[in-house]
Amino acid sequence: MILADSQPAPPVTAADYTKAAPLDLRGFQMKPAETPTADAEPPASDIYELTLRLEKGDTVEKMLADIDVAEAERKQIAEKLRSLLKKRKLAVGETIDLTMQTIPEQPDAPRVLALSVRPQPEREYIVSRNEDGTYDAEEKVYKVSPRIVRVEGERDGSLQQSGIKAGAPSAAMVEFIRALSYDVDFQRELKQGQKFTVLLEQLVTSDGKVTHPGRLLAGELRLMKRTAVVIRYRPQGGAEGFFNPQGESVVRSFLRTPMDASRITSRFGMREHPILGFSALHAGVDFAAPSGTPILAAGTGKVVAAGPNGGYGLYVKLQHTQDVATAYAHLSRFGPGIKPGVSVRQGQVIGFVGSTGMSTGPHLHYEFLKGGKHVNPLTQKFAMRGTVGGKDAARFQALAKQYLAQFRNAPVAGEAEKPAESKPAPKKSAQAPKEPAPSQIAKSN
Ligand SMILES: [Zn+2]
Repeated sequence: MILADSQPAPPVTAADYTKAAPLDLRGFQMKPAETPTADAEPPASDIYELTLRLEKGDTVEKMLADIDVAEAERKQIAEKLRSLLKKRKLAVGETIDLTMQTIPEQPDAPRVLALSVRPQPEREYIVSRNEDGTYDAEEKVYKVSPRIVRVEGERDGSLQQSGIKAGAPSAAMVEFIRALSYDVDFQRELKQGQKFTVLLEQLVTSDGKVTHPGRLLAGELRLMKRTAVVIRYRPQGGAEGFFNPQGESVVRSFLRTPMDASRITSRFGMREHPILGFSALHAGVDFAAPSGTPILAAGTGKVVAAGPNGGYGLYVKLQHTQDVATAYAHLSRFGPGIKPGVSVRQGQVIGFVGSTGMSTGPHLHYEFLKGGKHVNPLTQKFAMRGTVGGKDAARFQALAKQYLAQFRNAPVAGEAEKPAESKPAPKKSAQAPKEPAPSQIAKSN
């Protein structure tokens, strides 16, 4: 077992295989796929690379038989690989990289110089041929370390989908949207085409393979009149959370957008809805979203009404303090366990978007009451949970400064850093000059 060094190592290339296989390879060249061979006499001896996929019911031995590797050889290779993998089974779809050689004495039975499989980014199993025709088995372990990358995108549809399209993991976008929901009005402050940047911490092996697609460190969203920034931070002795660059917790006593904001798209709107903003007549604000979108309790409180309520349709009212209440109208149904008298936590699902009562399309009509009087929820200042203070302040400010700079200059998460599950199949190595022969790829099916 070789522990790869902590410095980013160069990618494993064909050259490494030739090192591993102590054959006399001088004078031999990698065969470029485009070499015209139709009429020309094949070269006396030739080395080439293949990438094959394990299919359902397949074994490595069967795969080698399919590409005409001699029986004694493939048995030896399969045995060596088994000893390396121990009890581990290779998954269907796993890619097997092969370095092959055709030899003049037996043109129909190519030789395997090296076989490599990497079921986990940090572990590679290699079987390579010795000069005397025996095979060696080797396990390579790559060191995993964190790396900060950025993903930039433009809002097109929902913020979550735009992020995924730009290359950010879905979980990171959900965290970003949740962190913004206390402060951002996703209905009125967002427009098509607005730019956002997220900083992600990926885990990367010493040879550049990503083992974790990225945890959200910080995010920046350009709004119409301002830019919202959230920064992940763990105060000393405290819980991890998101903060704005001033060191204030993003968590407020009330959500600005009391619903699953990832479902709000700039394209989705109510046709013919007369009033979207707050007015004395309308007494609330509306959030248009598809039917069934979860509606969240804007703050912690108690359910004081849950039932049909005239033009409001299915309606929920929450009492938060003696003074403050919120109300939610036109629901399609209630959240689990929601009935008068029960307590709810901030962010709990109290119902789902619908179009019951006097409504022209699926939307949430949201009201905020202070001392029994309707006020505009969008202009309320809500209490924050806390700020980063004391000894933490300097540490936080340094981190915030670093992240704000990295929004501009961190390496962009590129094609090579996409999460493994989004990798197109069959896999093609980004760096090694591998040109599998199409006919032989087809054989592995
Ligand atoms: Zn309304």
